[in-house]
Amino acid sequence: LDPASVALEREEHAHAEQSKVLDAVRLSNEFRVALADSQLFLEYQPFVELSSGTVIGFEALLRWNHPVHGRMPPDQFIPLIEETGQIIAATRWVFREACGALLRMQQAAGNNDLFMSINFSAQDFDEPEFVTSLCNVAEQEGIEPRNIHLEITERLLLRQASHVSETLKLCRDKGMEVSIDDFGTGYSSLSYLHRYPISTLKIDKSFISNMSSDDGALGLVRSIMSISDNLGLSIIAEGVENDQQVSMLRSLRCHVAQGFYFSRPLAESDAISLLNGVHIDA
Ligand code: C2E
Ligand code: MG
Ligand code: MG
Ligand code: MG
Repeated sequence: LDPASVALEREEHAHAEQSKVLDAVRLSNEFRVALADSQLFLEYQPFVELSSGTVIGFEALLRWNHPVHGRMPPDQFIPLIEETGQIIAATRWVFREACGALLRMQQAAGNNDLFMSINFSAQDFDEPEFVTSLCNVAEQEGIEPRNIHLEITERLLLRQASHVSETLKLCRDKGMEVSIDDFGTGYSSLSYLHRYPISTLKIDKSFISNMSSDDGALGLVRSIMSISDNLGLSIIAEGVENDQQVSMLRSLRCHVAQGFYFSRPLAESDAISLLNGVHIDA
């Protein structure tokens, strides 16, 4: 390696880093426009009760219809807007939109028990009056708090324990349910499961997809089932893609699942058609 090529490489590296920062700044400015300009929309992925094949609720998933890049998946912009703090405004938008959709879905299905699960980021919990404002929006949109599920990750619980714990307790007091998303992929201790007011564990899709080929993954799913049994928590299997997984989950006595096998995330009108079709073949 000659010094000249080392220097060149360094310069190229610095340049690449700089343009990454510029891209991030541009994207964050564009997101501000997106929020104001209705480039954001939601899709809804059903939760299916395995015993009956009935849809019992939906998860709201955020999408950005970018004027240049087209449809952008959340993984490409959520980490950035979490860093800039724009996630707080985004979550507010998602929450109201999802409540509105839920009311229309409940009316179409004639089912007041249908629930909506919404993803939250750690930053959302820093907002003062977080829970009060969620309840106010739900009320304005005609939704009962009991039909709202908050999805949070294990990472959030590691963050600022006492503050998060109080907020979650308040959520439960108001009647909202709290789910742990991607359960099993965080690095937290299990002790929080009984310290925090959690109602549901969503088993991460990596365990579900490896369950049939990897005894370790199957063992983990079994253990999660028995922990949840002992603590009185509900279980949802994420990322179910085939009927082999469905029958394994049935034999493990897992009652609720979500995944491409049942349905991809849907536009509101398709979600309503699905509800009107009553049963999904599971
Ligand atoms: P998540 O909350 O764990 O959502 C599940 C993701 O897995 C979704 O990807 C969904 O489309 C995908 N998925 C569902 N079933 C299957 C399956 O059977 N196979 C496979 N391979 N994938 C499946 P999506 O919509 O791209 O969302 C990615 C992540 O972005 C979400 O993971 C969530 O962490 C985050 N996200 C989405 N919407 C929001 C939001 O409104 N707010 C926040 N804070 N995060 C969000
Ligand atoms: Mg989720
Ligand atoms: Mg998940
Ligand atoms: Mg996941």
